Amino acid sequence: MNIQIQDLLNFLDGSSSRFHASLQIRSRLEAAGFKYLDEAEAFNLKKGGKYYICRQDTAVIAFVVGLDPLAKSGFNIAASHIDSPSLKLKPQSIKVDHGTLTCGVEVYGGPIISTWIDRELSMAGKVLIQDKKGCRSEYVDIKTPLAIIPNAAIHLNREINKGFEYNKQSQLPAILSVKESSGNPIWSLIATQIGCKESDIVEVELYLYDPQPASLIGIEGEMVSSQGLDNLAMTHAILSALIATKKPRQTAVGVFYDHEEIGSQTPQGANSSLLTELLERLCLCQSSSREDFYLALRHSFLISADMAHAYHPSYKEKYDPDYTPYMNKGPVIKLNANHRYASTTESALRFVQLCKEAKVPYQKFIIRSDMPCGSTVGPIVAAQLGLNTVDIGNAIWAMHSIRETGGILDHGYLISALEKYFV
Ligand code: ZN
Repeated sequence: MNIQIQDLLNFLDGSSSRFHASLQIRSRLEAAGFKYLDEAEAFNLKKGGKYYICRQDTAVIAFVVGLDPLAKSGFNIAASHIDSPSLKLKPQSIKVDHGTLTCGVEVYGGPIISTWIDRELSMAGKVLIQDKKGCRSEYVDIKTPLAIIPNAAIHLNREINKGFEYNKQSQLPAILSVKESSGNPIWSLIATQIGCKESDIVEVELYLYDPQPASLIGIEGEMVSSQGLDNLAMTHAILSALIATKKPRQTAVGVFYDHEEIGSQTPQGANSSLLTELLERLCLCQSSSREDFYLALRHSFLISADMAHAYHPSYKEKYDPDYTPYMNKGPVIKLNANHRYASTTESALRFVQLCKEAKVPYQKFIIRSDMPCGSTVGPIVAAQLGLNTVDIGNAIWAMHSIRETGGILDHGYLISALEKYFV
């Protein structure tokens, strides 16, 4: 297995929650010499310097300051998101029902719910601890399977194979134990992992996830199967290309948003001040003129990277036959007349040129004209900042399933194209 793919599998396995994905991004940036900047303190930046910020413990922006003046050269930006659809625990809904310990969940984003049923599930997230030292947050990842959301037997639900809608309140609570116990076993697991007292845990933000490791499948291992390819695979590709960047002429920026799956309207989502503030502050570190910020934006470009829908032989009718992307045939340029994707003729051509420079194939996707189109952070950021933007992404099956499948060649192709971009 090549190093890039092994690294992708490690990244996927370590990203058991949005918080853990963010931690991994930050630790890789630190290892590559990027310095953390606190948004609450004044920036002091050097040309060629590598820096990153993190907002609300999740969203990260990393950048390498270009050698050319920003007003003349602008920013080369690539953006993705680090959140995936999942089930969030409702901590006050942990209860014993006839000896069965259950926990209610909220649905985060739009998962294919049936794929979460009858699977071993673990939990990960963030915990607030209040002790003698004060209040602090800790990250927890239980790692082992400890929960399951079982179906009713077919004998009790004979129509299930005709299509079944799970009631999110009453049929999704996760079962944690059938052993009589006192107290709250989740709190005791967390306390053991962190090394604190159960009584010190004051708040939790925990999500269920699939602890089965990411793996290669197919006769020659040409596909990857994992939770969260959307959009951790694009995040990994941008991060890998940015880390490989050495003294670029134009300032290279990787943006890893949170909360795309729930509409992006949060302080760490795409529909926030996060990127605008950072870019403006970057300009003001070089020049006191606000005019230079606007000039820089006019010379900037955004690649919005999010997964695409690969041809699925069992659902042929779902694709426009002239715009069907295939796995392992290169990154997909996404186009939409109603600008659900931000690509334009010019921005698409720029991405095609990057693929040609990198000597990698590319494909184009347009949704069937009789079907509604998905969207990405691309149109939001393009509109906020007036950026020339292209929407691209690698093709996968079963987007928003607990297991998504993609092609391993596409991953290397996209990293090569992004490396040509960040120069
Ligand atoms: Zn996505």
